[in-house]
Amino acid sequence: GSVSLDDVPVWTPTAGASEPSRYQRNGKLDQKISVYSGDITKLEIDAIVNAANKSLLGGGGVDGAIHRAAGPLLKKECASLRGCETGEAKITCGYGLPAKYVIHTVGPIAQGGVSEQERRALRSCYRNSLLTATENAARSVAFPCISTGIYGYPPEQAVHEALAAVREFLDAHHDKMDRVIFCVFLPTDKELYLHNLPLYFPPA
Ligand code: ADP
Repeated sequence: GSVSLDDVPVWTPTAGASEPSRYQRNGKLDQKISVYSGDITKLEIDAIVNAANKSLLGGGGVDGAIHRAAGPLLKKECASLRGCETGEAKITCGYGLPAKYVIHTVGPIAQGGVSEQERRALRSCYRNSLLTATENAARSVAFPCISTGIYGYPPEQAVHEALAAVREFLDAHHDKMDRVIFCVFLPTDKELYLHNLPLYFPPA
């Protein structure tokens, strides 16, 4: 079955403590960020982000999983978009998915170390995906760990681009976004996110 966002707990920097302190904004508790371990195709959410390739015609990893779950109409709409550049994002319907939209973004391919250009491109993926979401009135978005699978970007570096981009976006467009879910698939990525989140969303 699919997973309701009501059942995805909001992240707290002191999870497990009796009195959790959350990322504060203007002195108020902010409750927008979650780390969710599992399959992104199961989320009942406004938009899931796809780590696509430039053709937008489907591939392996999370891209393959999204296309399988959405059904053939997704590929049809993707084909009409005529590809996507690295760091940019394009939106489609979700079709058979519980998500209303899929935002397809193309991460950089890292080959033996990360260049400044690749770093900027990865950050753009997160920023442009969120901008595309808000342009379409999507108020909840789930991200996979873009580029860290087949595209070879070191996960321990990618997490910083993901968190910095989301923090920056929420600071600028706070009222347009309700939830941002980091959908992690590997236990090592869950650890990386939980370890680094307090750096970008510090407790008060
Ligand atoms: P890229 O080509 O951008 O590296 P991949 O799909 O190879 O994309 O990997 C990106 C991340 O997505 C990896 O951490 C991988 O473990 C994860 N992943 C694979 N399948 C799923 C899924 N169904 N839901 C969420 N994340 C997934």
